[in-house]
Amino acid sequence: MILREILLDHYEYPHNHKLTDSPDFREAHMASESCIDDIRVQAKIEDGVIEDIRFDGRACTISTASTSMMTDLVKGKTIEQAKEIMDNYFAMIDGREFDETILDEAIALQGVSKQANRIKCATIGWHGLEKLIAESEEDNDGK
Ligand code: ZN
Repeated sequence: MILREILLDHYEYPHNHKLTDSPDFREAHMASESCIDDIRVQAKIEDGVIEDIRFDGRACTISTASTSMMTDLVKGKTIEQAKEIMDNYFAMIDGREFDETILDEAIALQGVSKQANRIKCATIGWHGLEKLIAESEEDNDGK
């Protein structure tokens, strides 16, 4: 599939697109001032592993697709692995060097690095994940 098709497929059929009421999940509410994006990202992080991750909300094509891809990439990964994926993703969006093999389908968003007004959209879900990981580390209880 060409990159544009991968993007649209994630927009039409987003993965891990269902929130939960489970108390085992942390939640980050992320909203954009420059776009319609208003999403919630939930993650169940236990013993340094992202056991489950979900999202939902109002979101444009780019934010929906990028968050859907993010959930695929980090689900089941350790926090350390997730950070490496995040670092590479943010590097790609910033137009810096990155490791393509780590990002898999998310390279479909590489073009966003040249569209300043869409960068927030392409990173909103990822910043949600970043926040959830930081909170989990602050608690320092392995959850
Ligand atoms: Zn957006």
